[in-house]
Amino acid sequence: MHASQLRHLRSTTPNAAATAPSNTVAAPPVKHHRSVAPLLPMTLLSKTRPLLVLDLDETLVHASVEKVPHEVCFGVNMGAQTVNVYVKIRPFAREFLKAVSAQFEVAMFTASLAAYADQVLDYLDPAKMYVHHRLFRSHCTNVDGVFLKDMSLLGRSLERVAIVDNSPIAYSLQPENGVPISSWFDDPSDTELMKMIPFLEFFAQVQDIYRATKTFRGKFHPMHASVH
Ligand SMILES: [Mg+2]
Repeated sequence: MHASQLRHLRSTTPNAAATAPSNTVAAPPVKHHRSVAPLLPMTLLSKTRPLLVLDLDETLVHASVEKVPHEVCFGVNMGAQTVNVYVKIRPFAREFLKAVSAQFEVAMFTASLAAYADQVLDYLDPAKMYVHHRLFRSHCTNVDGVFLKDMSLLGRSLERVAIVDNSPIAYSLQPENGVPISSWFDDPSDTELMKMIPFLEFFAQVQDIYRATKTFRGKFHPMHASVH
């Protein structure tokens, strides 16, 4: 399998964006607004809890079409052929999902295709207990070939939304809602998800999520501190 096949399955967000300071990522004009209908349905949870939006690739997992050491492998139907995808799970991913799902309404929002991402989520959360909503590339806003996650389309008050994503450009339309996390590929000693749990639990309790995310960026990711 060729690595380029993975780009069709997964986010095409440029790798450089994962490490670029948010203040250098100018929000481009949105050319295509897909729909005025909210992307998420109203639920009982949404009345009482803030929404936590979670990225998938390099935030919770890393996937490859090359046969590398992996936790799970599955075939993804690409129409004319089935591509084997080898997936590694970031350390503490399940503990993280369990913890945040007790405090937030949780939506996975990935720029990857549903044919791939649905299978990863079915593996990570088979009983659908932790991730309440799933959004895929088709729900992203395509700006010059980059798939942005426009949280104004979700149908939630933006003061009650936080997004954890390794690519700042993915939330560049609403950078003040962003909770940065480092990109993960294969480090078995990574503890970023575990370390983030207490801060997200704090976010869930505060009224001013903008202030909370700003504090997080300034304290733990100084390069993001000048966003706001
Ligand atoms: Mg990502």
